[in-house]
Amino acid sequence: DEFHQPIATDEFHQPIATDVPTAARVYDVMLNGKDNFEADREVAEASLAIMPELRDIALHNRAMLHRVVRHLAAEEGITQFLDLGSGLPTVRNTHEVALEANPDARVVYVDIDPIVLAHGRAILADNPGTTVVTADLREPNEVLDHPEVRALIDFDKPVCVMLVGILHHLSDEEDPAGIVRVLRDAVPSGSYMFITNFTRLSDAPESAALEKQLLQQLGTGRVRTPTELAGFFDGLEVLNPGLVPLPLWRPDTPVTDTTPVDVRFMTGGVGRKP
Ligand code: SAM
Repeated sequence: DEFHQPIATDEFHQPIATDVPTAARVYDVMLNGKDNFEADREVAEASLAIMPELRDIALHNRAMLHRVVRHLAAEEGITQFLDLGSGLPTVRNTHEVALEANPDARVVYVDIDPIVLAHGRAILADNPGTTVVTADLREPNEVLDHPEVRALIDFDKPVCVMLVGILHHLSDEEDPAGIVRVLRDAVPSGSYMFITNFTRLSDAPESAALEKQLLQQLGTGRVRTPTELAGFFDGLEVLNPGLVPLPLWRPDTPVTDTTPVDVRFMTGGVGRKP
């Protein structure tokens, strides 16, 4: 409808290529957002045809994000959040949850997709402790040294580094484990790393089919083994209950059912730097 036209220009008011799908906009489709185009919806529909539970998984991913940020801000005294690959603003963003727990919280959103900045600016204008930066996680030192990141985050104090649903958009050649190490080494003791990722399931062939479809249509979407995911937490103390399917990480209400196979397709956890 005409009141919800997506912003189709980047921060410099250059037109955004709407005919090439992007991870941020495909994820926006999953979350029933309005900031996506036909090319993005085609990828989302093809993924949902392979794994219809992907919509639920996206919602579980957001719900776990809310629980982790609330826990770290309210219980562990974390006031700084570096949300890498933050995606388009959606219902309840990191800064809303963090600020509820601690009005002094600072949140820096980083994403490679300029549409995130275009939408984020408007929403975040009223929040001086929050900013949105366009940068590429594959250059982690540029992210860490970015003036807008440095303006809000004090790297002498504990930080929560968030890599939520983003590392599967990096190929093996791009060395996600090496990038995680750079980030881990940049934050002080008492910092946290929060990671969720697509996980390969030996008993669920659709996880391989989905990887193939995403790599073909989107260009990224590397599904990793539980061992590969555990490797991202090297040198960290993993908080209970460990690396688990998203709904099982400290659920607000006890989970009684066994987790359906398809929801196990995404796993996550939180590690503390000793
Ligand atoms: N973190 C949010 C969440 O979990 O709800 C959004 C996840 S979304 C699936 C992945 C995001 O990572 C997209 O917005 C995409 O643009 C971003 N992304 C992918 N590659 C990136 C890179 N190299 N640097 C920064 N952001 C990247």
